[in-house]
Amino acid sequence: MPSSFAPRLVNGPFGDPGLLVEMRWQGSAVLFDLGRNDGLPAGELLKVSHVFVSHTHMDHFIGFDRMLRLFLNRDKRLYLYGPEGIADCVAGKLKGYVWNLTESYTFTIDVTEVTSDGAKRAVFRASTGFEREDVDLLAAQLAAPDPRDPPGTPVLVDEGHFRVRAAITNHRIPCLAFAIDEPTHLNVDAEGVAKLGLAPGRWLKDLKDALREERPDDTPIRVELPGRIEGERSLGSLRPLVQITPGQKLGYIVDTRFIPENLAVLLPVMHKSDVLYCESPFLDVDRDQAAMRYHLTAAEAGTIGRMSRAGRLKVFHYSPRYQGRGDMLRQEAEAAFRGRKEAGAVADLESAAG
Ligand SMILES: [Zn+2]
Ligand SMILES: [Zn+2]
Repeated sequence: MPSSFAPRLVNGPFGDPGLLVEMRWQGSAVLFDLGRNDGLPAGELLKVSHVFVSHTHMDHFIGFDRMLRLFLNRDKRLYLYGPEGIADCVAGKLKGYVWNLTESYTFTIDVTEVTSDGAKRAVFRASTGFEREDVDLLAAQLAAPDPRDPPGTPVLVDEGHFRVRAAITNHRIPCLAFAIDEPTHLNVDAEGVAKLGLAPGRWLKDLKDALREERPDDTPIRVELPGRIEGERSLGSLRPLVQITPGQKLGYIVDTRFIPENLAVLLPVMHKSDVLYCESPFLDVDRDQAAMRYHLTAAEAGTIGRMSRAGRLKVFHYSPRYQGRGDMLRQEAEAAFRGRKEAGAVADLESAAG
């Protein structure tokens, strides 16, 4: 069954990291990381409603300017999430330009900082020349915790058709890893619609919304009959038209180290991703380099994929030193993912544990 997520890496594996996830039926998209994005058509970027920035090293944030330029004269609110200090980084970027002609613009950037003790929010409006407004975040404004979730995996955003969770990892600075999932996947049986004497139309979206919101069976749903005639049916009578299956889950990990404190926060959030997108900058023989730069090796990426029980692993964010040898990184990650190779760090951790 097709998922509503259509994910793709913004650049090739040696380019700046970034993952665009289009929402197939919504006409919108979310973006993980803001590295260079010149390769993305403007129309694709303009679909983005939420941006999740892992951290603001240049290769993860230099694409902010293109985004700003495209969005500036549109009637849009862009939600941006990042680690502690992200609002200062956004403010700094915005201070680099002069804003004396934007009073009539409605574009707004809504920034949320994810910290170990909750979240902070700041709003920047084009109409005020992007003067920073700090907003007190009420607990109620954060997505309510779902009691079925494992501990340590708070939901950052819940938009109904997608949810995003974050893990704060140690990259010598806080660096966020993210997981996005669809709570449920709703598939309409087109033949069933016709058999009930109904015509497909916008009402199918209302039907799905009602099911997603778990409304009672006697909830009336406005339906469409052939010839554009309107009618009404109970939710209960329409329920068999929609097949409900668990949605897809994608994980996104960049710029982090294979150390117990990071694994402790990453594994619960990434648990059972259908596809795990994971950085893989170094070969395992160069793991001292990787550790010094607070990055993973390919074998470590594969191990995280295996430990978190990912369905598939896609590696990227290769160091330029392996230019022309990208296949080696991919193969090493895959071997560790399949359990055919052990990352050196695993043995190191085990011997350290005694
Ligand atoms: Zn970094
Ligand atoms: Zn990086």
